[in-house]
Amino acid sequence: MSADVWSKVTAFRAAADGRARGLYPFFRAFDVHEGPEAVIEGRRVTMFGSNNYLGLTTHPKVREAAREAVRRLGTSTTGSRLINGTLRLHEELEQRLAAFLGRPSALVFTTGYQVNLAVCSALLAEGNVAVVDRGVHASIYDGVRLATSSGARMVRFGHNSASSLHRHLSRLDDGEGALVMMDGVFSADGVVARLDEIVPVIRAHRARVMIDDAHGLGMLGPGGRGTVHHFGLESEVDLIGGTFSKSLASVGGYLVGDEAVIDYIRHNASPFIFAASGAPATLAAALAALEVMQEETWRIDRLRENSEYMARGLRLLGFDIGATTTAIIPILIGDEERTVEVWRDLLESHAIYTNPFLFSSVAAGGALLRTSCMATHEQGHLDRGLEAFEAVGRKHGLI
Ligand code: PMP
Repeated sequence: MSADVWSKVTAFRAAADGRARGLYPFFRAFDVHEGPEAVIEGRRVTMFGSNNYLGLTTHPKVREAAREAVRRLGTSTTGSRLINGTLRLHEELEQRLAAFLGRPSALVFTTGYQVNLAVCSALLAEGNVAVVDRGVHASIYDGVRLATSSGARMVRFGHNSASSLHRHLSRLDDGEGALVMMDGVFSADGVVARLDEIVPVIRAHRARVMIDDAHGLGMLGPGGRGTVHHFGLESEVDLIGGTFSKSLASVGGYLVGDEAVIDYIRHNASPFIFAASGAPATLAAALAALEVMQEETWRIDRLRENSEYMARGLRLLGFDIGATTTAIIPILIGDEERTVEVWRDLLESHAIYTNPFLFSSVAAGGALLRTSCMATHEQGHLDRGLEAFEAVGRKHGLI
């Protein structure tokens, strides 16, 4: 035996090269996180790079719920939902989510990432096809990889294209069963899935559909119910998945659907069964955030207003922000190095925090700066952001 498994480790230069050139954007530690502002390495910055869309991570009710859960239940379940890790709190959250999203049944997971792994690995096997939008989140691709190891295959359709989906579904063999999966709001480009065109195609082909609405919840639909409700398609979509790590100000994931399919996943998905369940504080925070979202609906309106203001401002300045209509506003740049330089200038010269999305979070050559708005951004934050974007946009020839 001559090959060393570790050879890839010694060959990995990207991070070290980036650090050496002062162009390494990842794993920056925050000292303090207050929502629209944060302190990073001793400097106060304005946040345009979080998924805390409704600003609930610091809400007094949400904080207090987490504190009370720790006081009453401790810090961890230390076990899987299947055996010693189910709390009444899991069940309560499942009942609330099912009721809120108008579906018979819900399942709560430790992360949103596991939701997609669980759905794919439990439901797709030999003779099944995962039909995914090209722009889906990495967790769907990872889930599909698990499914392919049990004999399923994958086809990808054009980003948000009902006609491409129709072509691909038409080519499936008669005996194959298909599950179509896509984000409700795409995590990198902020585009809303055209479910009004896409779901009828899926139904016409008698395929199944799961929408990962990690970003849509709290952004779209009546009461923030998300993308599927935004289009009034809740009775047409088989499964809706999502996360607590964005509008719901916590950590964890959920899946809603019919009782039988949720029960099947509960008993057959290893990513669900072989991981410890969500901790009391995270469950209580998500539950409280769900309540606050329903009580303080101004947050959903404010998020939309702030997002529209920023998108309009950036477009007027001449930035290419693609087709977003949501709080996720990408600044499309293309070149990776340029993207990281713009990111560094925003942070170092203007105290504006954003996130560079490089390959493989986005397609090769499609590097972008992902910015996002919050309901709790005040006018001053938005204007400070626009001024900084204008300055770096001119300096780097983006506008
Ligand atoms: N799906 C999408 C579309 C996401 O953006 C994310 C998180 N970035 C996830 C799933 C995974 O969620 P979590 O952070 O809860 O693991």
